[in-house]
Amino acid sequence: MKVIHLSVECYPVAKVGGLADVVGALPKYQRKLGVDANVVMPWFDKPYVHSHKFEVVAEGGFYQGSQYLNYTVFSHEESNLGFPLYLIKVPGFLDRPEVYGYGDDSEQWLAFQHAFLHWILNNNIRPDVINCHDHHVGLIPFLLKNTNDFRELAGIKTLFTIHNGQYQGWMNWNKGILLPSFDTWKWGLLDWGGSINPLSSAIRCCDAYSTVSEGYLGELVHEAKGLESLFVDQAYKAHGIVNGIDLDLWNPAKDPLILSNYTSRTVKSGKRKNKEAFCEKVGLPSDCLLLTYIGRFAYEKGADILASVLHNYYSQNENNLTIFILGSGDEGIQKDIEIAFEKYAPKIAVFFGYNEALAHEAYAASDVILMPSRVEPCGLNQLYALKYGTIPLVRGVGGLKDTVIDVSQEDGYGFVFNDFSVQSIDSTIKRALAYSAKEKDWSVITRKAMALDFSWDKSAQKYIDLYNQLLK
Ligand code: ADP
Repeated sequence: MKVIHLSVECYPVAKVGGLADVVGALPKYQRKLGVDANVVMPWFDKPYVHSHKFEVVAEGGFYQGSQYLNYTVFSHEESNLGFPLYLIKVPGFLDRPEVYGYGDDSEQWLAFQHAFLHWILNNNIRPDVINCHDHHVGLIPFLLKNTNDFRELAGIKTLFTIHNGQYQGWMNWNKGILLPSFDTWKWGLLDWGGSINPLSSAIRCCDAYSTVSEGYLGELVHEAKGLESLFVDQAYKAHGIVNGIDLDLWNPAKDPLILSNYTSRTVKSGKRKNKEAFCEKVGLPSDCLLLTYIGRFAYEKGADILASVLHNYYSQNENNLTIFILGSGDEGIQKDIEIAFEKYAPKIAVFFGYNEALAHEAYAASDVILMPSRVEPCGLNQLYALKYGTIPLVRGVGGLKDTVIDVSQEDGYGFVFNDFSVQSIDSTIKRALAYSAKEKDWSVITRKAMALDFSWDKSAQKYIDLYNQLLK
């Protein structure tokens, strides 16, 4: 079975969040299970692209509206990524240093999707399944079936995977002329509330869709930025498959990015060494419980509550907790955190920006990881944390609810709260502090956490089972 994963992020080529981690791991695990899984993504002006060898495998061109666009497809088949990778370059659109943040992302992702279809059509590439990831490639299921140029590809099955339903790729109908010419009477399959909505189009036109956890699938019918009724309507082809973690990259026993490797047998001393070195590096005392936040400064992540949590906690003259924050995004959130940092340092340390190595060090060094998400399709941070013996303190939503069991329950190994409020986070932090004072109990949950199996093997097989269902 040949599968193409189509995505605009893939670790280690270009990563902004969990989408990259999934697309950088899932195909590798699928290949181990005998599936010919490949990744196609845009060409980015990134260090990885310049420091590795790529060869040109195809060239072509097409009109996007009145503009003629040329594309080049590069392959990196002999990579050590564990799967063949193809990059599509379109000068002016798919040749930029960052994945997101340009004013013309609709045009960018349209160019990507059109170039991809043009390439596979003209080079006789016929995957059995195209697994599209998120709204950037959400028009593929529609374009395969409803365009003059690509009807020959209509038999290819599509699985659309939703990593984040908050972003839908809305574009004004005046951009409709940029699409390859389509059956105009089918416009309704593109439209949602008067705009072209790639996510809604994908849900309607794909053969099946999946979310990255069961919990999130259930939540989308209640909260999906206007698409709730669509998710109710199309539920018959919905599947929830929880993400895994790539143990080649996220394993404290052999992670080259952390100071001291450890296993569940040596976790106590291993984490202590990592914590001491890390705290010295970021300027924190190392004799308190270390709680860490890693992630995008975004509303859905609940990052806007962090500054209030800090003010509330430290204004009570509490001094048995240190907090490390690693993230970037909303400038207002960053400013508020900066103010708290100036007031409470050295109890708090922050790093504004994206730093993969620092994230690994922080997972290894921290005692607790905080995820106060409003919405969490799966969440990878808690899965990485668990593997590193770092206890998750999370809001019980989406994938967090599916993967973290509170210590008050049988087999629990984390701290879960439900209300999105400073009080609720504060009392849960205090619960974690009290628990950590009982050294034996803490060491039991640490070991329990590390023994959990969130590797990709099981979930990669579930994707394959789903492809097989589509091909029946
Ligand atoms: P999302 O994809 O919604 O941002 P996930 O929890 O699924 O959230 O994935 C986040 C991924 O991005 C994790 O691998 C996390 O370690 C990483 N990450 C997020 N922010 C940063 C940062 N500032 N520096 C390093 N890694 C980060």
